[in-house]
Amino acid sequence: MTKNILSLAALLIVSATFVACTNDDNIIDETQQPANGKYTMTINASKGDGATTRALTLSGKTLSATWATTENVYVKKGSDWATGSLNPQADGATATLKGELSGITIAENDVLTLQFPKSGDITYDGQLGTLADIEANFDYATASVTVASISASGNINPEAATTTFTNQQAIVKFTLIDKADGTTSLSATQLVVSDGTNSYTVTPASATSEIYVAIPGFSGQTVTLTATVGTDTYTYEKSGVTFTNGQYYEITVKMTKAVTYTLLSAATTEDVGKVVCAAGHLHTAKTAVPAGCTAVGILGKVTETGCGLILALQDATSQTWNTINGWTSVTTYAGTTLKVLPDAAAHGSLTSYTTLGTTAVSDWAVAQKSDYEAIFTNLGSTTGDSDGKTYDANVNAYITTGVGGTAISDDYYHYYWSTTEDDWSGKAWTFYPHFWRLDYKTTSNSVRPVLGFGPAKLLSAATASDVGKVVCADGHLRDAKTAVPAGGTAVGILGKVTETGHGLILALQDASNQTWTTINGWTSTTDYASTTLKVLPDDARGSLTGYTALGATAVSNWAVAQKSDYEAIFINLGSTNSDSNGTTYDGNVNAYITTGVGGTAMSAPSYWSATEFYGVNALAFNSVLWGYSEKTNSLSVRPVLGF
Ligand SMILES: [Zn+2]
Repeated sequence: MTKNILSLAALLIVSATFVACTNDDNIIDETQQPANGKYTMTINASKGDGATTRALTLSGKTLSATWATTENVYVKKGSDWATGSLNPQADGATATLKGELSGITIAENDVLTLQFPKSGDITYDGQLGTLADIEANFDYATASVTVASISASGNINPEAATTTFTNQQAIVKFTLIDKADGTTSLSATQLVVSDGTNSYTVTPASATSEIYVAIPGFSGQTVTLTATVGTDTYTYEKSGVTFTNGQYYEITVKMTKAVTYTLLSAATTEDVGKVVCAAGHLHTAKTAVPAGCTAVGILGKVTETGCGLILALQDATSQTWNTINGWTSVTTYAGTTLKVLPDAAAHGSLTSYTTLGTTAVSDWAVAQKSDYEAIFTNLGSTTGDSDGKTYDANVNAYITTGVGGTAISDDYYHYYWSTTEDDWSGKAWTFYPHFWRLDYKTTSNSVRPVLGFGPAKLLSAATASDVGKVVCADGHLRDAKTAVPAGGTAVGILGKVTETGHGLILALQDASNQTWTTINGWTSTTDYASTTLKVLPDDARGSLTGYTALGATAVSNWAVAQKSDYEAIFINLGSTNSDSNGTTYDGNVNAYITTGVGGTAMSAPSYWSATEFYGVNALAFNSVLWGYSEKTNSLSVRPVLGF
């Protein structure tokens, strides 16, 4: 009983031999095989669906199809492709297919699949949107041939003299029109057709409004079209769509131009003055936000991309400075200290926000004097003195035009608090339409709060491009291999994203050693990241803190994942340590775990996966390879969180 894992190669040889032995019942009669391993096949191919191959020509609305002698039909048995191909012996609607095949063993009763126009797995990737391209690359049809016998010279005698090809897709011609006027053609450089499960991306050689797409048939699906037209995006959606394989469709679609906006998370100083909506969009300054969007404030300051301050469209409730100073300080937004309004009473008519779209915000807060000055300067104020810029009509125009905000008061005796105090006078700074002015801290003055935003993206918005980032306990994603900010707690490394907001996070430390038998007895969960996780009970986590949520995102708590999960994580984190048994971790992976966030590198003699192998064995990994170990051995555990 060694704790070291054994290479899979040794056991695979055993199982291969075992499999070979069971085939004794099924031995091929060698006398029926050609000595040179070459077969010849001749079969009549009939039209399928009333319009078989191939040379697609448009005649009215009918796609007619005929055989051409230049075409190739490929043959496979199971998933193994024969070398060589069959060729039509004459042009025409039906033809005799004939050719020489080798590279596979063909025997009596085998069922062969005939396919054109290409060998290999059927794929619809890389379409150009023309009939010629579909004919050459995507007009798949298949037929089945059962082998009656093989002659000594290698002639394949089919059970039936004629086979019928079946088209594997519909062909659809989309004509793209702008819904705005119902007539203007939209010349697209890309069209994506999605049926909810699969999507097909067509990239024409040059922009065009007529695009042909090969699409495998489906019934009653909602189809979404997304076209790229210049720098604009147009969309179209229709439910209850059915496409039948072998059929040809011509469809004119009236497409709607998508609302264009920048995301708050990508805000730069160029965006100052824009309207920020609740969905985290930046809409053009001094205009109404589109239907469906709710204006939240005016982008007043950007400290770095995705970080800054948003000025409110209304005042909050008036307060004394002493009250404001007692509120919670937040320092994680826009490089300043904000005093966060504590409750609905302080918010007045302002709606509370902790996120705008996927961008985290501070909720409404009173800012420093320097913050308000920067906002007023950025919004074009020309009013102020040596104490600093205050607001004017230029500032108020952003707040009121189009978005229904209330101007900051133009009453010359109406003061607004900042959070900044003046040590010399014992007073604190207020702004009003003339200048900045010191006032007694016990005076009740107006409040025009701001929202601090950025920098962190939330786990719920994680996509594959975020792999490697540090995941914090508050659900924020921080850049890979950097320290998390003060106040943040690093939980793990984003290792895999299965879809937006779903994936696996690799722990920064090992949990307690376990036997595989024990792990297998733990609760299974299949609710996260499309896999089965074995969740560590409380006493198995070692030094790891348990989590059921990171911020607002639910997580599985620490769990042992499948071999395929660990492999995907290691590949995503840049491991180059692979052999035929899979990919394990290397220094690239450990660099994510250790750099900046204080994690402990993986280095144990071996780690369990949740994947069973064979008999008394289950699959494990170390820094060298994937292998197997007896289930009763106690090995290390590097768990993951599913989200
Ligand atoms: Zn919006």
